[in-house]
Amino acid sequence: MHNLKYTPAVEKETEEIYHRVQNVITPARWQSMAPLIVEINRLKREKNAVILAHNYQTPDIFYGVADIVGDSLKLAQEATKTTADIIVQAGVYFMAETAKILNPQKTVLIPDPLAGCSLASSITPDDVALMRSKYPGATVVSYVNTSAAVKAVSDVCVTSGNAEKIVEAIESDEIIFLPDQYLAHYVATKTTKKIYAWKGACEVHELFTGKYVDELRAEHKNIVVLAHPECPPDVLEASDYIGSTAQMQTYIEQKQPARVVLITECSMSDNLFAANPNLEFIRPCQLCPHMKRIDLEKILHSLETMTHEVLIDPDIITAARRPIDRMLELS
Ligand code: SF4
Repeated sequence: MHNLKYTPAVEKETEEIYHRVQNVITPARWQSMAPLIVEINRLKREKNAVILAHNYQTPDIFYGVADIVGDSLKLAQEATKTTADIIVQAGVYFMAETAKILNPQKTVLIPDPLAGCSLASSITPDDVALMRSKYPGATVVSYVNTSAAVKAVSDVCVTSGNAEKIVEAIESDEIIFLPDQYLAHYVATKTTKKIYAWKGACEVHELFTGKYVDELRAEHKNIVVLAHPECPPDVLEASDYIGSTAQMQTYIEQKQPARVVLITECSMSDNLFAANPNLEFIRPCQLCPHMKRIDLEKILHSLETMTHEVLIDPDIITAARRPIDRMLELS
Protein backbone atom coordinates (compact mmCIF):
# COMPACT_ATOMS: atom_id res chain seq x y z
CA MET A 1 0.00 0.00 0.00
CA HIS A 2 1.47 3.35 -1.00
CA ASN A 3 1.39 6.26 1.40
CA LEU A 4 1.30 9.13 -1.06
CA LYS A 5 -0.36 12.35 0.08
CA TYR A 6 -2.93 14.63 -1.51
CA THR A 7 -0.93 17.87 -1.29
CA PRO A 8 -1.74 21.27 -2.84
CA ALA A 9 0.89 20.46 -5.50
CA VAL A 10 -0.88 17.18 -6.34
CA GLU A 11 -4.23 18.96 -6.41
CA LYS A 12 -2.88 21.53 -8.85
CA GLU A 13 -1.18 18.98 -11.07
CA THR A 14 -4.35 16.87 -11.38
CA GLU A 15 -6.81 19.78 -11.58
CA GLU A 16 -7.41 19.42 -15.31
CA ILE A 17 -7.87 15.63 -15.12
CA TYR A 18 -10.33 15.98 -12.26
CA HIS A 19 -12.30 18.50 -14.25
CA ARG A 20 -12.91 15.76 -16.86
CA VAL A 21 -14.06 13.10 -14.39
CA GLN A 22 -15.81 15.17 -11.75
CA ASN A 23 -19.28 13.88 -12.69
CA VAL A 24 -18.22 10.27 -12.08
CA ILE A 25 -15.68 10.51 -9.20
CA THR A 26 -16.43 12.23 -5.89
CA PRO A 27 -13.91 14.74 -4.45
CA ALA A 28 -13.25 12.42 -1.49
CA ARG A 29 -12.36 9.48 -3.76
CA TRP A 30 -10.26 11.74 -5.96
CA GLN A 31 -8.05 12.63 -2.98
CA SER A 32 -6.93 9.01 -2.74
CA MET A 33 -6.48 8.63 -6.50
CA ALA A 34 -4.70 11.86 -7.45
CA PRO A 35 -1.36 11.16 -5.69
CA LEU A 36 -1.16 7.75 -7.39
CA ILE A 37 -1.91 9.36 -10.76
CA VAL A 38 0.86 11.91 -10.29
CA GLU A 39 3.36 9.23 -9.33
CA ILE A 40 2.39 6.91 -12.20
CA ASN A 41 2.70 9.74 -14.74
CA ARG A 42 6.11 10.70 -13.31
CA LEU A 43 7.35 7.11 -13.59
CA LYS A 44 6.04 6.84 -17.15
CA ARG A 45 8.15 9.84 -18.17
CA GLU A 46 11.19 8.56 -16.29
CA LYS A 47 11.02 5.07 -17.83
CA ASN A 48 9.69 5.99 -21.28
CA ALA A 49 6.56 3.91 -20.73
CA VAL A 50 3.06 4.13 -22.13
CA ILE A 51 -0.16 2.82 -20.69
CA LEU A 52 -2.74 1.23 -22.98
CA ALA A 53 -6.20 1.18 -21.39
CA HIS A 54 -9.25 -0.63 -22.62
CA ASN A 55 -12.63 1.12 -22.67
CA TYR A 56 -13.68 -1.03 -19.68
CA GLN A 57 -11.10 0.50 -17.37
CA THR A 58 -12.34 2.86 -14.67
CA PRO A 59 -12.30 6.65 -15.33
CA ASP A 60 -9.33 7.29 -12.98
CA ILE A 61 -7.21 5.02 -15.20
CA PHE A 62 -8.90 5.93 -18.48
CA TYR A 63 -8.54 9.70 -18.06
CA GLY A 64 -5.80 9.88 -15.41
CA VAL A 65 -2.89 7.76 -16.61
CA ALA A 66 -3.69 6.15 -19.97
CA ASP A 67 -1.83 7.32 -23.08
CA ILE A 68 -3.86 5.26 -25.52
CA VAL A 69 -7.46 4.27 -24.90
CA GLY A 70 -9.90 2.31 -26.99
CA ASP A 71 -11.27 -1.07 -27.93
CA SER A 72 -9.10 -4.09 -28.65
CA LEU A 73 -8.65 -3.11 -32.31
CA LYS A 74 -7.47 0.42 -31.55
CA LEU A 75 -5.14 -0.78 -28.79
CA ALA A 76 -3.66 -3.35 -31.20
CA GLN A 77 -3.22 -0.75 -33.95
CA GLU A 78 -1.69 1.86 -31.67
CA ALA A 79 0.57 -0.70 -30.01
CA THR A 80 2.39 -1.04 -33.36
CA LYS A 81 3.15 2.69 -33.47
CA THR A 82 4.51 3.46 -30.03
CA THR A 83 8.15 4.46 -29.59
CA ALA A 84 8.06 3.80 -25.85
CA ASP A 85 10.38 1.16 -24.36
CA ILE A 86 7.75 -0.18 -21.99
CA ILE A 87 4.07 -0.88 -22.54
CA VAL A 88 1.83 -1.30 -19.52
CA GLN A 89 -1.45 -2.97 -20.43
CA ALA A 90 -4.36 -1.75 -18.36
CA GLY A 91 -6.63 -4.47 -19.60
CA VAL A 92 -6.71 -8.24 -19.51
CA TYR A 93 -4.01 -10.78 -20.24
CA PHE A 94 -4.83 -11.58 -23.87
CA MET A 95 -4.58 -7.84 -24.63
CA ALA A 96 -1.12 -7.71 -23.06
CA GLU A 97 -0.15 -10.74 -25.14
CA THR A 98 -1.38 -8.96 -28.27
CA ALA A 99 0.75 -5.93 -27.38
CA LYS A 100 3.76 -8.23 -26.94
CA ILE A 101 3.12 -10.07 -30.22
CA LEU A 102 3.09 -6.71 -32.01
CA ASN A 103 6.11 -5.39 -30.07
CA PRO A 104 8.33 -8.39 -29.36
CA GLN A 105 11.38 -6.23 -28.66
CA LYS A 106 9.61 -4.08 -26.07
CA THR A 107 8.92 -4.82 -22.43
CA VAL A 108 5.21 -5.44 -21.94
CA LEU A 109 3.87 -5.41 -18.39
CA ILE A 110 0.49 -6.36 -16.99
CA PRO A 111 -0.27 -5.06 -13.49
CA ASP A 112 -2.13 -8.25 -12.55
CA PRO A 113 -1.38 -11.44 -14.50
CA LEU A 114 -4.59 -13.03 -13.20
CA ALA A 115 -6.68 -10.58 -15.22
CA GLY A 116 -8.09 -13.21 -17.56
CA CYS A 117 -11.16 -13.49 -19.75
CA SER A 118 -13.87 -16.14 -19.89
CA LEU A 119 -13.69 -16.13 -23.68
CA ALA A 120 -9.91 -16.51 -23.89
CA SER A 121 -9.95 -19.34 -21.35
CA SER A 122 -12.73 -21.22 -23.15
CA ILE A 123 -10.53 -22.56 -25.95
CA THR A 124 -7.09 -24.13 -26.44
CA PRO A 125 -4.97 -24.91 -29.53
CA ASP A 126 -6.08 -28.57 -29.25
CA ASP A 127 -9.70 -27.44 -29.50
CA VAL A 128 -8.85 -25.50 -32.66
CA ALA A 129 -7.22 -28.63 -34.11
CA LEU A 130 -10.40 -30.55 -33.30
CA MET A 131 -12.53 -27.96 -35.11
CA ARG A 132 -10.22 -28.07 -38.13
CA SER A 133 -10.48 -31.86 -38.30
CA LYS A 134 -14.26 -31.62 -38.05
CA TYR A 135 -14.58 -28.93 -40.72
CA PRO A 136 -11.62 -29.42 -43.07
CA GLY A 137 -11.08 -26.53 -45.46
CA ALA A 138 -12.88 -23.97 -43.29
CA THR A 139 -10.98 -20.78 -42.40
CA VAL A 140 -10.31 -20.30 -38.68
CA VAL A 141 -11.41 -16.82 -37.63
CA SER A 142 -10.44 -16.04 -34.05
CA TYR A 143 -11.78 -13.21 -32.00
CA VAL A 144 -8.89 -11.26 -30.45
CA ASN A 145 -10.18 -12.48 -27.08
CA THR A 146 -7.99 -15.57 -27.36
CA SER A 147 -4.58 -16.59 -26.04
CA ALA A 148 -1.43 -16.12 -28.11
CA ALA A 149 -1.28 -19.91 -28.51
CA VAL A 150 -4.76 -19.99 -30.04
CA LYS A 151 -3.99 -17.04 -32.32
CA ALA A 152 -0.89 -18.92 -33.46
CA VAL A 153 -3.08 -21.71 -34.92
CA SER A 154 -5.67 -19.36 -36.44
CA ASP A 155 -5.92 -17.96 -39.97
CA VAL A 156 -7.17 -14.47 -39.17
CA CYS A 157 -8.17 -12.49 -36.08
CA VAL A 158 -11.17 -10.21 -35.73
CA THR A 159 -12.54 -7.80 -33.16
CA SER A 160 -16.21 -7.15 -32.47
CA GLY A 161 -15.87 -4.00 -34.57
CA ASN A 162 -14.54 -5.62 -37.74
CA ALA A 163 -15.75 -9.26 -37.57
CA GLU A 164 -18.50 -8.77 -40.15
CA LYS A 165 -16.22 -7.01 -42.60
CA ILE A 166 -13.39 -9.52 -42.28
CA VAL A 167 -15.62 -12.58 -42.60
CA GLU A 168 -16.94 -11.09 -45.87
CA ALA A 169 -13.45 -10.18 -47.07
CA ILE A 170 -11.84 -13.60 -46.70
CA GLU A 171 -12.17 -16.02 -49.61
CA SER A 172 -13.54 -19.08 -47.85
CA ASP A 173 -17.29 -19.68 -47.67
CA GLU A 174 -16.89 -21.83 -44.58
CA ILE A 175 -15.74 -20.26 -41.34
CA ILE A 176 -14.80 -21.72 -37.99
CA PHE A 177 -15.56 -18.77 -35.74
CA LEU A 178 -14.21 -18.84 -32.21
CA PRO A 179 -14.53 -18.60 -29.31
CA ASP A 180 -17.62 -16.39 -28.83
CA GLN A 181 -20.85 -18.16 -29.78
CA TYR A 182 -22.86 -14.93 -29.58
CA LEU A 183 -20.56 -12.87 -31.77
CA ALA A 184 -20.53 -15.84 -34.17
CA HIS A 185 -24.32 -15.89 -34.16
CA TYR A 186 -24.45 -12.15 -34.82
CA VAL A 187 -21.97 -12.41 -37.71
CA ALA A 188 -23.96 -15.36 -39.12
CA THR A 189 -27.01 -13.10 -39.41
CA LYS A 190 -24.97 -10.72 -41.59
CA THR A 191 -23.45 -13.15 -44.05
CA THR A 192 -24.44 -16.01 -46.35
CA LYS A 193 -21.26 -17.89 -45.39
CA LYS A 194 -21.47 -21.02 -43.27
CA ILE A 195 -20.33 -20.32 -39.71
CA TYR A 196 -19.26 -23.07 -37.30
CA ALA A 197 -19.13 -21.57 -33.83
CA TRP A 198 -17.25 -22.51 -30.67
CA LYS A 199 -19.39 -22.39 -27.52
CA GLY A 200 -17.54 -19.75 -25.50
CA ALA A 201 -19.21 -16.70 -23.98
CA CYS A 202 -18.30 -13.49 -22.21
CA GLU A 203 -19.33 -13.92 -18.59
CA VAL A 204 -20.34 -10.25 -18.43
CA HIS A 205 -22.42 -9.88 -21.59
CA GLU A 206 -24.17 -13.23 -21.29
CA LEU A 207 -25.82 -11.99 -18.07
CA PHE A 208 -28.01 -9.55 -19.99
CA THR A 209 -31.37 -10.71 -21.35
CA GLY A 210 -33.91 -9.35 -23.81
CA LYS A 211 -36.43 -9.27 -20.95
CA TYR A 212 -34.10 -7.03 -18.99
CA VAL A 213 -33.87 -4.62 -21.95
CA ASP A 214 -37.69 -4.56 -22.13
CA GLU A 215 -37.83 -3.76 -18.40
CA LEU A 216 -35.37 -0.91 -18.88
CA ARG A 217 -37.53 0.50 -21.66
CA ALA A 218 -40.63 0.28 -19.45
CA GLU A 219 -38.88 2.03 -16.58
CA HIS A 220 -37.05 4.73 -18.55
CA LYS A 221 -39.07 6.29 -21.35
CA ASN A 222 -37.46 7.14 -24.70
CA ILE A 223 -34.15 5.44 -24.07
CA VAL A 224 -31.84 4.45 -26.90
CA VAL A 225 -30.37 1.00 -26.27
CA LEU A 226 -26.89 0.21 -27.59
CA ALA A 227 -25.71 -3.38 -27.18
CA HIS A 228 -22.40 -5.15 -27.62
CA PRO A 229 -22.46 -8.11 -30.05
CA GLU A 230 -21.10 -10.40 -27.30
CA CYS A 231 -24.64 -10.27 -25.85
CA PRO A 232 -27.11 -13.12 -26.47
CA PRO A 233 -29.38 -12.83 -29.54
CA ASP A 234 -32.52 -11.79 -27.59
CA VAL A 235 -30.63 -8.78 -26.22
CA LEU A 236 -29.49 -7.75 -29.69
CA GLU A 237 -33.04 -8.11 -31.03
CA ALA A 238 -34.34 -5.85 -28.26
CA SER A 239 -31.71 -3.14 -28.90
CA ASP A 240 -31.64 -0.11 -31.20
CA TYR A 241 -28.01 -0.39 -32.19
CA ILE A 242 -25.38 -3.14 -32.08
CA GLY A 243 -21.70 -2.27 -32.03
CA SER A 244 -18.28 -2.64 -30.46
CA THR A 245 -17.29 -0.26 -27.69
CA ALA A 246 -15.61 2.02 -30.25
CA GLN A 247 -18.73 1.98 -32.42
CA MET A 248 -20.90 2.80 -29.39
CA GLN A 249 -18.64 5.75 -28.64
CA THR A 250 -18.91 7.03 -32.21
CA TYR A 251 -22.70 6.61 -32.11
CA ILE A 252 -22.92 8.68 -28.94
CA GLU A 253 -20.56 11.39 -30.15
CA GLN A 254 -22.40 11.76 -33.45
CA LYS A 255 -26.05 11.20 -32.50
CA GLN A 256 -26.02 12.56 -28.96
CA PRO A 257 -29.05 10.52 -27.76
CA ALA A 258 -30.63 12.37 -24.81
CA ARG A 259 -31.21 9.15 -22.79
CA VAL A 260 -29.05 6.18 -23.50
CA VAL A 261 -28.21 2.79 -22.04
CA LEU A 262 -25.16 0.75 -22.96
CA ILE A 263 -25.58 -2.99 -22.65
CA THR A 264 -21.96 -3.75 -21.87
CA GLU A 265 -19.42 -3.52 -19.03
CA CYS A 266 -20.31 -0.61 -16.79
CA SER A 267 -17.09 1.44 -16.85
CA MET A 268 -17.82 2.14 -20.51
CA SER A 269 -20.85 4.21 -19.49
CA ASP A 270 -18.83 6.05 -16.82
CA ASN A 271 -16.13 6.96 -19.33
CA LEU A 272 -18.65 8.17 -21.90
CA PHE A 273 -20.68 10.05 -19.31
CA ALA A 274 -17.52 11.85 -18.19
CA ALA A 275 -17.06 13.06 -21.77
CA ASN A 276 -20.78 13.72 -22.42
CA PRO A 277 -22.23 15.17 -19.19
CA ASN A 278 -25.13 16.66 -21.18
CA LEU A 279 -26.54 13.16 -21.88
CA GLU A 280 -28.41 10.95 -19.46
CA PHE A 281 -26.81 7.53 -19.12
CA ILE A 282 -28.93 4.82 -17.54
CA ARG A 283 -26.22 2.68 -16.03
CA PRO A 284 -27.07 -0.97 -15.41
CA CYS A 285 -23.88 -2.26 -13.87
CA GLN A 286 -22.23 -5.51 -14.92
CA LEU A 287 -18.58 -5.41 -13.92
CA CYS A 288 -15.93 -7.54 -15.57
CA PRO A 289 -14.10 -9.05 -12.58
CA HIS A 290 -10.98 -9.49 -14.72
CA MET A 291 -10.80 -5.89 -15.94
CA LYS A 292 -11.41 -4.75 -12.37
CA ARG A 293 -8.29 -6.53 -11.14
CA ILE A 294 -6.38 -3.60 -12.62
CA ASP A 295 -6.28 -0.47 -10.44
CA LEU A 296 -4.01 2.52 -9.88
CA GLU A 297 -2.12 0.83 -7.01
CA LYS A 298 -1.25 -2.16 -9.19
CA ILE A 299 -0.28 0.01 -12.17
CA LEU A 300 2.10 1.96 -9.95
CA HIS A 301 3.55 -1.22 -8.48
CA SER A 302 3.97 -2.61 -11.98
CA LEU A 303 6.00 0.40 -13.11
CA GLU A 304 8.07 0.51 -9.92
CA THR A 305 8.99 -3.16 -9.96
CA MET A 306 8.74 -3.84 -13.72
CA THR A 307 6.25 -6.64 -13.13
CA HIS A 308 4.58 -8.69 -14.42
CA GLU A 309 6.44 -9.02 -17.65
CA VAL A 310 4.55 -10.78 -20.45
CA LEU A 311 6.81 -13.37 -22.06
CA ILE A 312 5.81 -15.48 -25.06
CA ASP A 313 7.74 -18.18 -26.92
CA PRO A 314 9.28 -16.53 -30.03
CA ASP A 315 7.79 -19.22 -32.32
CA ILE A 316 4.32 -18.49 -30.95
CA ILE A 317 4.92 -14.76 -31.46
CA THR A 318 5.82 -15.32 -35.10
CA ALA A 319 2.84 -17.59 -35.73
CA ALA A 320 0.36 -15.41 -33.80
CA ARG A 321 1.51 -12.27 -35.60
CA ARG A 322 0.23 -13.54 -38.96
CA PRO A 323 -3.52 -13.61 -38.17
CA ILE A 324 -3.24 -10.26 -36.37
CA ASP A 325 -1.43 -8.66 -39.30
CA ARG A 326 -4.03 -10.12 -41.64
CA MET A 327 -6.75 -8.52 -39.54
CA LEU A 328 -4.98 -5.15 -39.50
CA GLU A 329 -4.56 -5.29 -43.30
CA LEU A 330 -8.20 -6.22 -43.88
CA SER A 331 -9.56 -3.63 -41.43
S1 SF4 B 1 -15.81 -8.19 -20.45
FE1 SF4 B 1 -16.04 -10.32 -21.11
S2 SF4 B 1 -14.85 -10.43 -23.01
FE2 SF4 B 1 -14.18 -8.57 -21.93
S3 SF4 B 1 -12.44 -9.25 -20.67
FE3 SF4 B 1 -14.26 -9.41 -19.37
S4 SF4 B 1 -14.90 -11.57 -19.61
FE4 SF4 B 1 -13.51 -11.12 -21.32
